Amino acid sequence: MSFADLGLSDELLQAVEAAGYSEPTPIQAQAIPPVLMMKDLIGIAQTGTGKTASFVLPMIDVLAHGRRRALMPRSLILEPTRELAAQVADNFVKYGKNHDLRMALLIGGVQMGEQVKALQEGVDVLIATPGRLMDLFERGKILLTGCELLVIDEADRMLDMGFIPDIETICSKLPTNRQTLLFSATMPPVIKKLADRFLENPKYIEV
Ligand code: AMP
Repeated sequence: MSFADLGLSDELLQAVEAAGYSEPTPIQAQAIPPVLMMKDLIGIAQTGTGKTASFVLPMIDVLAHGRRRALMPRSLILEPTRELAAQVADNFVKYGKNHDLRMALLIGGVQMGEQVKALQEGVDVLIATPGRLMDLFERGKILLTGCELLVIDEADRMLDMGFIPDIETICSKLPTNRQTLLFSATMPPVIKKLADRFLENPKYIEV
C-alpha cells in the first residue's frame, strides 16, 4: 500500500513526500479513503500510530474547496489538552503548505482577543479544547452552524478529564448533516454511547 493509492491530491502527496514518509501507517491506510469520501469514522488507535496525519491529510483535501464565513468555522477539531491542540495545528501547517487554509487555535491560557479576531475573519479549521470553546460559545463569539466536519480526538482522555458533557453540548450545536470522526485509544461504554448518539453509520477501524 502506498500513499498514492489512498486518493489524496497531488499537493498532499508532495507534502507527504516532503515529510519523508515512505508508506502510510495502518491507521492512515484505513482511515484516509473513508474520510475523503466524507464518511463518519471511529478510529481506535494510540498516539504514535500516525493517527494525526490520518485525519489531517484527508481533511486538507476535503476543505480545499469552499467558502469561509465570519464566526462560522468550516471544521472543528476537539483536543483534550493545549499541547495536543498545538501539535495538531503544527500538522496542518506542515501538510497544508500548498493550501490556502486558515486555522485558529482556541485554547486556555491564551488571550481571547486574538482568537476572537481570527474567528471574525473566518476560519477553515478550528482546533479547540472543550473548555475554551464553551466559554466563547456562551459569550456569543462563535457560531457552529456552518461546521460540517467534526473531529473528537483522544475521546477516552476527554472522558478522564470530565469533558463529555461539554462535547455533547458542542455536538448538538453543529448541523446534523456533518461528517464526524472519533478517535480513542480504548472504547469504554460512555464513549460508545457518545459515538452511537453523534455518529452516523461510522466505519470502525482498530489498529
Ligand atoms: P501521531 O500518532 O499522529 O502522534 O504521529 C506519531 C509520529 O509519526 C509523528 O512524529 C509523525 O510525524 C510520524 N508519522 C506519521 N505518519 C507517518 C508515516 N506514514 N511514516 C512515518 N512516520 C509517520
